[in-house]
Amino acid sequence: MDYLQGLNPEQRAAVEQTEGPVMIIAGAGSGKTRVITYRVAHLIRKGVDSFNILVLTFTNKAAREMRERITHVVGNEAKNIWMGTFHSVFAKLLRVEAEKIGYPSNFTIYDTDDSKSVIRAILKEMNLDDKLYSVNFVLNRISASKNNLISWQEYQKNEQIQADDFSSGRGQMGLIYQNYATRCYRAGAMDFDDLLYKTNELLKLHPEVLNKYQHKFKYLMVDEYQDTNFSQYLIVKKLAAVNENLCVVGDDAQSIYAFRGANIQNILNFEKDYPDLKVFKLEQNYRSTQNIVHVANSIISNNKEQLKKNVFSEKEAGDKIKVMRAFSDNEEGKMVAETIMQDRSLKGRKWHDFAILYRTNAQSRSMEEALRKLGIPYKIYGGLSFYQRKEIKDLIAYFRLTFNPNDEEALKRIINYPRRGIGDTTVDRIIVSADQNQISLWEVILEPSKYLDGRTSAAVGTFATMIQSFQVLSKTKTAYESAVYIAQHSGLLKDLYEDKSVEGINRHENIQELLNGIKEFSEREDIEEKGLDIFMQDIALLTNDDNDKNPDADTVSLMTIHSSKGLEFPQVYVVGLEENLFPSQMSLNSRSDLEEERRLFYVAVTRAETKLTISYATSRFKFGTLISCEPSRFLDEIDAKYLELDYSAKPSTSNNPFFDDDRKAWSGGKQADAFSKPKPATSAPVKTTSILAKAHIPSANFKPSDTSNLQVGMEVEHERFGFGKVLNLEGNKPDIKATIFFKEIGQKQLLLKFAKLYII
Ligand code: ATP
Ligand code: MG
Repeated sequence: MDYLQGLNPEQRAAVEQTEGPVMIIAGAGSGKTRVITYRVAHLIRKGVDSFNILVLTFTNKAAREMRERITHVVGNEAKNIWMGTFHSVFAKLLRVEAEKIGYPSNFTIYDTDDSKSVIRAILKEMNLDDKLYSVNFVLNRISASKNNLISWQEYQKNEQIQADDFSSGRGQMGLIYQNYATRCYRAGAMDFDDLLYKTNELLKLHPEVLNKYQHKFKYLMVDEYQDTNFSQYLIVKKLAAVNENLCVVGDDAQSIYAFRGANIQNILNFEKDYPDLKVFKLEQNYRSTQNIVHVANSIISNNKEQLKKNVFSEKEAGDKIKVMRAFSDNEEGKMVAETIMQDRSLKGRKWHDFAILYRTNAQSRSMEEALRKLGIPYKIYGGLSFYQRKEIKDLIAYFRLTFNPNDEEALKRIINYPRRGIGDTTVDRIIVSADQNQISLWEVILEPSKYLDGRTSAAVGTFATMIQSFQVLSKTKTAYESAVYIAQHSGLLKDLYEDKSVEGINRHENIQELLNGIKEFSEREDIEEKGLDIFMQDIALLTNDDNDKNPDADTVSLMTIHSSKGLEFPQVYVVGLEENLFPSQMSLNSRSDLEEERRLFYVAVTRAETKLTISYATSRFKFGTLISCEPSRFLDEIDAKYLELDYSAKPSTSNNPFFDDDRKAWSGGKQADAFSKPKPATSAPVKTTSILAKAHIPSANFKPSDTSNLQVGMEVEHERFGFGKVLNLEGNKPDIKATIFFKEIGQKQLLLKFAKLYII
């Protein structure tokens, strides 16, 4: 079987063990994902019907790539495999079965913004303090409950939970959960967690449905099993219960989603669940050089909780791991960009051979700026999805309402956008009437004269008639025809067209882009149903990576470490190795949180194939303030023999006199003790005091002012940078960046929302 040639004996054995429960727990880069891919191809070659295979991956992108590879071996049969993330696969299943648990098949998927908006409304109605009950706290609490399959009824009955809530002064949590669940249900909407929670409910309450899928999915495979939560674990267990042809692969050392409810016990209990389990060990890492593998092993050995593994590489020893120190976050970006530039020409690399990984999204700014300055093309992964943009969400809200008029969040979003004289008071009135009469908002809107007074009732009636006309139209027209009609007749296109600001033009273009996408969908030949409802189905689950128009473009990749899971790049930069950033401040209170951060570091370094560079800055801007930083404890933990310290960077020679003192201090600096905590003497190149000593002293009448009307040419005073003139403004609210020339320190780019500026 030629297609099995690319496997080592252990991998091959795992691929050929197609029957019964199988578990592969192995280190990074050892071919776990490869085994799943080959296993699926092998099953189909052996005659298993491709409709009977279910593969659960970590991202939609991983599923797409896997499907492509399988297609090479088995051809178009690969199209029939159910393959994707837990959320997308079970959303698909729920579309077929939702009516059995009281939802319309065209239920809406509420994204996080929708969920937050529902919670906000509930908190307001219940008159609760939104500091004590912060939206994020409430959302996390509800999410954790659902992921542990605790219904709101159970939540309210559970004495331990109630005691916890009362002792923290949040005794109303149970009621909020109830209201939230009821409201989503009334709106015919499921949030992300519901896609799993409701699947469990469906399989529990309807044995005939469970039975159907147990027989359909004769073979199940799960990648990244270490990051499944209880809800996911139970779905898999139930579906596999009849045939028990279940293969899970994962790495306990890469479990990085405990904060979202992932449960490492799912791996540890697997043996108990399936006593005749076959376990395969993969020890050879095929991805990285020996040095990189050594470093990864030395990092993870600091964790107490881990399954011991012996991971080795037979590739060349490779370069030592370079550690770069920078004097500021901007400097760090510059060093990274410059070495990328150098390596590309010296080693004949392509831009797409490089990845920059960071702990938090905010770190991308200094990296982006530096890359842009050198003209290096880059792409940010896992960022804001195209579908999350305001104007796109607005138009999609019209689509959502057309197919599910009970969708309250969509309705609230557009009932008065574009403006049609239905103010907040009227909307509140509609909500109250719906509550009082135990009906949906839509039902109130259908009979406005019954619930509202004269003038507003007419406007509301016109709105309802318009949505109804969209409903009629979309039954017969293609997705594209319906979408264009709705964009025009809702008034949305006109509203955007009339806005001639840069942002307005941009928004109009985005809408055109969405319509183009829908046009392409309408013209596809490989699908039969091409209605707008089908196009809409899983849009809420798409990330910006799924909307990538040009996935093969030659660009440097930027992403958080969390989104780099499973990926690999020839050269990797892991930046921001500083205390309180990585490990993050939030993880410092418990061993288990700290160990999760360390696993995250392990994930980061194991993405690299041939060259790994780690960097840190000794000062960094956080929320507009310059703070000094200590190198991360994780650096200390790596065996120094694998490291090469590159402290060649001099403090910036740009027009930034902040660093004059530091430059002098630097000449006396030593390299060897660089990881130890900064010492006050010459060995600490940047000291907070030296930076602050130079800082501007604000004038007596200095008071940060509202900068929303800031314009190019205006003169300003900055709390610390002194007096300057605005040279340029770019970006959209609330992320407008101002380039300002300061008399004392030269040019600087500031994010307006954080900058403490006084307009003179
Ligand atoms: P991670 O833990 O990061 O998800 P993984 O265990 O899933 O890693 P893969 O991504 O499947 O590992 O494999 C890592 C790299 O090694 C891939 O480029 C893969 O093609 C290659 N590889 C795996 N096994 C072999 C093999 N037997 N021969 C050659 N290359 C291999
Ligand atoms: Mg993998």
